[in-house]
Amino acid sequence: MGTICVTGSASGIGAATKQRLEAEGHRVIGVDMRNADVIGDLSKADDRRRIVEEVTVACGGVLDGLVPCAGVSTPAPNELVVRVNYFGTLAVVEGLRGCLEKGSNPAVVMISSNSTTMTPGLPVEEAMAYLNGDEESLVARHTAPHTFVAYPAGKLAIAFWVRSQAAAWMASGIRLNAVAPGVIDTGMTRPLLDMPGVKDSLDMIPIPRGRWGKPEEIAGAIHFLLSADASYVVGQVLFVDGGTDALLQPTAHPHPLPGGR
Ligand code: NAD
Repeated sequence: MGTICVTGSASGIGAATKQRLEAEGHRVIGVDMRNADVIGDLSKADDRRRIVEEVTVACGGVLDGLVPCAGVSTPAPNELVVRVNYFGTLAVVEGLRGCLEKGSNPAVVMISSNSTTMTPGLPVEEAMAYLNGDEESLVARHTAPHTFVAYPAGKLAIAFWVRSQAAAWMASGIRLNAVAPGVIDTGMTRPLLDMPGVKDSLDMIPIPRGRWGKPEEIAGAIHFLLSADASYVVGQVLFVDGGTDALLQPTAHPHPLPGGR
């Protein structure tokens, strides 16, 4: 049994993850804007620093797992999408790295999204801009209120970050992986059903499983990736989306190294 920090623990996937981990006997330190052990706003630099400090005190400087689940999407402004989903997430992950290094078989499971592979024409350079840019330049890049690129590009950047950092973090003993959920029935998606244009686009998403996912189904995958059963799983982005990604791009992954015949 371990001590695991879950951000966004008050609702949806984070709440289901907290519940599942506690049912398995783990101690969970929840972080959220309300109804959590550590309260704070991950869009704000001062709060991020305080959250890291308070989680560090709460876990006694030793953390076995981290699930940075807090996030926002439409109709939240792009500024919040950029600040919370990417920069707030990385601030917590990097801020708690020292605690994870002291943990037992430590693992981080980040939250990407299948919007990374099913948004038509999503420019890869938008994800690279997140990876290479600073927070204020990314906020400025996504000032237009009605573009939907900030969210999927940020989630693509999270996936790229996990894959590119996994070896270095493994050298410190920490397994880095991500889940990429499809449309999951949570407080994030339910309000979208009342937005005519958005509901129509959601209805057009082909889902072989035939329905939206449940938060518990993502929590199950997160629990697996944190567990000893996943001890050899490193740097992976596990799509948990009812089959949409495989249906839309059946031969895109795995992708052989270029140069072979
Ligand atoms: P949710 O709205 O039910 O829960 C998100 C939680 O994050 C809330 O408790 C909220 O208070 C917290 N949060 C938001 N902004 C915060 C901030 N500034 N500081 C601290 N906490 C903050 O949403 P969810 O669907 O459970 O989403 C969880 C994660 O899963 C997000 O990263 C989201 O992008 C991702 N995701 C969701 C879906 C989906 O269809 N629901 C699909 C793919 C990925």
